[in-house]
Amino acid sequence: MVLAGGITGLETVSLPWLRDQGISFAVVTCPEDEARWEAERLGAFTRQLARAGLEGYLAPVGYGKVLDPDPAVTSLYLHTHPGTLQIDSRGRRCAKACPNDPRFLEWFANSMRTLAWLVEVKGFVWDSPSFYHSRGVWACRCTYCQRLFSAAAGEPLPRELLPEVLDFRRNSLSLFLLAATAAIQSVDRRLQSIVVPPPPLDPPTATGGADNWKLLASNSGAAAMGLVVSPEGRGYRLPEEGALLPSVQAAHGEGKPVWLWLTAERLHPELVHEGRKLARNLGLEAIVWSDYEALRRTRAKSPV
Ligand SMILES: [Zn+2]
Repeated sequence: MVLAGGITGLETVSLPWLRDQGISFAVVTCPEDEARWEAERLGAFTRQLARAGLEGYLAPVGYGKVLDPDPAVTSLYLHTHPGTLQIDSRGRRCAKACPNDPRFLEWFANSMRTLAWLVEVKGFVWDSPSFYHSRGVWACRCTYCQRLFSAAAGEPLPRELLPEVLDFRRNSLSLFLLAATAAIQSVDRRLQSIVVPPPPLDPPTATGGADNWKLLASNSGAAAMGLVVSPEGRGYRLPEEGALLPSVQAAHGEGKPVWLWLTAERLHPELVHEGRKLARNLGLEAIVWSDYEALRRTRAKSPV
């Protein structure tokens, strides 16, 4: 179950109700700008979770926006460190820090270490790591990316999103995830990393860089993968199994479990049923319901 209402919203979460629904773990969303002031409250909630017998996971959002599941989430870091932002193919700065910028990486690792000290959880969720991309415009062409690319390839970073540039971006995000895992595990070696790539994009060539499941799942930092699905159009139809199978097989081939990450405005009992069926047919190891409010709104009678 995802608790996405922010840190102050955690006060309204009923842990006995979660347990009554058969929920065994909770992913607590931790927005950067709120964590600045509400860190103690966040830590206390994760300890309550643990005492209630629920496994907790922390999903940091904001934090330079490399992890960017929701464009509405703010990041004070971006405003105070404009020099570390990604630079797109038109030469403009984007509202995302560059995962290859060592100044950003240091701040990010420090922030994650601080969170790891503060909370009592089983692991961290890295949700939708990505580079900027939009309608043929892509990032990043900052000094660090240019340097890293030419050091490895022996030629300047092309202006077009060529296959070697796509690979460079994929590898950069993979290294970022390694650094993120190293940061939390420097506090506690048992802390796990759950990698949740963005859902496949249309067209598939317009990529943020986290589109290669085999590469992401083979990352030694990744303990499990999250497969985001949401109902398409009206009704409760979820994507066809066939469309999801290659991602699942890539992860299982690397020995990594896959959690179905079901995102919906409302978790109707029919959708819950569909989600369970999909997870079973794909051989997935867990289901994450997103989110708490969606389930409460639905007032599902049947246990989830
Ligand atoms: Zn860059």
